[in-house]
Amino acid sequence: MIHVEGLTKYYDDICAVDHIDLDIKGGEIVGLLGPNGAGKTTTLRMLTGYFKPSAGDIRVKEHSIHDDPLAIKRLIGYLPESAPLYKGMLVYDYLEHVARIRGLDGATLGKRLQELADMCGLRGIMHKTIDTLSKGLKQRVGLAHAMMSDPEILVLDEPTSGLDPNQIVEIREIIRKIGEKKTVILSTHILTEAEATCDRIVIVNKGRIVADGSTQELTSGKDRQGRVQIGLLGAAAGEVVGRLQGIAGVSAVTPQPEEAPGVTRVQILCRPGVDARADIYAAIKATDWVLVEMNQEAQTLETIFRELTRES
Ligand code: ATP
Repeated sequence: MIHVEGLTKYYDDICAVDHIDLDIKGGEIVGLLGPNGAGKTTTLRMLTGYFKPSAGDIRVKEHSIHDDPLAIKRLIGYLPESAPLYKGMLVYDYLEHVARIRGLDGATLGKRLQELADMCGLRGIMHKTIDTLSKGLKQRVGLAHAMMSDPEILVLDEPTSGLDPNQIVEIREIIRKIGEKKTVILSTHILTEAEATCDRIVIVNKGRIVADGSTQELTSGKDRQGRVQIGLLGAAAGEVVGRLQGIAGVSAVTPQPEEAPGVTRVQILCRPGVDARADIYAAIKATDWVLVEMNQEAQTLETIFRELTRES
């Protein structure tokens, strides 16, 4: 459905998006996850035709952003981070205005507004002034706006930013429902958001894709560096570091603060894809140290996100 190749954007000499390649299939809900300044908004603005790429191509179905940006815009509904709404208007009047701009009228217009009211949970607020609505309700009006032309693709920039926990759940449910029939791409820097809403997570950092897959694929990835914590009696931290650093599958050994008297604790970073626990145990067995603790840190989306975006 969407094919992105070598997508790059410079703001003067700042490289905000750096040669991104991405293929998105019809019906996927994809989360662009990254720290502040990673390039998420810039990527979405290029996808939706609001910014011209400095280099690279975006193809949506058979259209290229260079040859036919308008055709791509027609296929995409876009909800920017701060949805521009006419605050003094009633919700109904506002959506009717948007519908007319999109060429709807008569019975078709009425039917579409009803469908959107149901889809976005607007039934009870159609005759309220936008200004009087909570941020969560305003966001639902923004979603209805983005979905007006029944686009095949919905692009959402930080859709739950600034919402309270109840509003977040409500917006997520609407997005998931829309995602049953449409392709959805959303940006977020909230891990739980990406995990709860998306089938696929693309982690971006400094304008580049650093991971791509489902939460399950990312957390079980073969190229991840495992972390093992151990606690020893009768061992000096310096000796432990020296001995364990010599193991082939170990890339770093770092002393940890003491938690129990006399127990030396270290964290061992393993080489990507290596489970070094058996070798660590063998190295300790050959000494007179007493192993009182060994834990492998479970990989979660959070640990992976921190590992991949640490320098930011
Ligand atoms: P956030 O989560 O904070 O919105 P983001 O991941 O969406 O961040 P972008 O807003 O795309 O990131 O910004 C990427 C980089 O480009 C940042 O270094 C930012 O300062 C820079 N940038 C963004 N917009 C502009 C602009 N209009 N002019 C100059 N630099 C910009």
